[in-house]
Amino acid sequence: MMTDVLIIGAGLAGLSAALACRDAGLDVRLLEAGAGPGGRALTRRIGSGLPADMGGHWLHGEDSPLRGVIERYGLEARADEGEFYISENGVLRQSDEDWLERAIDDDLARRIRLGETPDIPLPDLARDAHSRVWLEDFGYLWNGLEPPLRPSAREFLTDENTPGGLQLTKGVGALIEALANDVGHARIRSHTVVTHLISISDSVCARGSDGSTWLARRAIVTVSLGVLTSGMIAFDPPLSDATRAHLDGMIMGEMNKIVIAVDPAFFRQRRIAPDTAYELLDSRPPHFCHAHSSGLPLIQLYASGQRARQIERLSAEQATGYVSALVRHIPALAGFEAHMQGPPLISTWSSHLFTQGAYSALLPGHQRSGPRVEGPIVLCGEAFDERFPASLAGSWRSGQAAVRSLGETGLYMRQTATV
Ligand SMILES: Cc1cc2nc3c(=O)[nH]c(=O)nc-3n(C[C@H](O)[C@H](O)[C@H](O)COP(=O)(O)OP(=O)(O)OC[C@H]3O[C@@H](n4cnc5c(N)ncnc54)[C@H](O)[C@@H]3O)c2cc1C
Repeated sequence: MMTDVLIIGAGLAGLSAALACRDAGLDVRLLEAGAGPGGRALTRRIGSGLPADMGGHWLHGEDSPLRGVIERYGLEARADEGEFYISENGVLRQSDEDWLERAIDDDLARRIRLGETPDIPLPDLARDAHSRVWLEDFGYLWNGLEPPLRPSAREFLTDENTPGGLQLTKGVGALIEALANDVGHARIRSHTVVTHLISISDSVCARGSDGSTWLARRAIVTVSLGVLTSGMIAFDPPLSDATRAHLDGMIMGEMNKIVIAVDPAFFRQRRIAPDTAYELLDSRPPHFCHAHSSGLPLIQLYASGQRARQIERLSAEQATGYVSALVRHIPALAGFEAHMQGPPLISTWSSHLFTQGAYSALLPGHQRSGPRVEGPIVLCGEAFDERFPASLAGSWRSGQAAVRSLGETGLYMRQTATV
């Protein structure tokens, strides 16, 4: 049977697109490689059943479109107002969130924003040698890019993921659950790895690794940039040169987390405020640590680049030792091991076959675009949003935009005619 729209991938972009299709009166089906919806918006349970976000966590940005979405589903969220510390050259000091602003050459930044000066690698935006190290470290930690690769300064200056941000009290999994319930679980087919997408005049045929075949008038592909560029899905005809060139301007950054549940009394006794953040710049390469995360008794350690790959292979004991070595000089956190409630959780996004990295990073001199239309197929996901790139908000927006671009391919008009 031919559906109106097949959606490949049931992460946030796929669920967003499914709801937009439904609102447009289109019949939709989602094919998901994993065991269920969510993709990189994955919440696991730790300790006494606390929600641990293993991928996306913050709903970044004051104007995030997800604010309206979580209100619609009545999901509880809290602003991240905790203390912020930088540990550098063995000295721990409290800072404000403007530390990065102070690292930037304001005049150069203004000219790049206005397009008067071409885009440059982020560290070249620094006002002095010391600031350059900060920006290098930031590109490594935030974008997950291993030097000599560096992210675009223009994107750093213009994306809307900062300032502001919310955290979902029950984790991003609660948002995925609400969306999947709304879409209808019967529309989501899990354990279906799409390997071929064949465009035949005005329709698309998808083939799964289990031999299944699906026909639709249009397809929306939401798989990660890593999956898209790995060749896991063969496109017939192949993607256009313009889209290939566009994909070449981005690279999949790497990031993983170690999440540790601790006795709640530990945070009370040490007087650690909810959402206390530590930028660990004296560890080489640098790390980021979020303690009393979301006001829950959790410690979350973020590792990027090569370290992200390395921590995937650690045993529970080794992961505890890894975090312990990094925070031993932070008096508030030292000795947390004695208060742990069960083994840590470690994310494995680098080796995850259906992700192949954490999220996309834009290379200098390149630009993101919205969803890419390839005949009856539209590509979208976190890599295809200019305002909230590489984020949950960007995934949501790109799913909505993909369905709008289906309208431009004539699908809505015909749909209206049938109605
Ligand atoms: C460690 C980490 C921390 C992050 N922190 C934040 C944060 O704090 N805030 C924020 O906004 N963002 C954050 N992100 C990014 C955010 O999680 C992602 O941008 C977002 O979840 C991506 O959603 P998506 O739907 O675009 O892609 P995905 O979630 O990757 O969804 C794509 C889906 O396609 C499926 N798939 C893949 N291949 C196939 C195939 N061949 N056939 C069928 N299905 C397939 C996958 O299983 C997946 O479910 C983080 C990500 C990571 C990894």
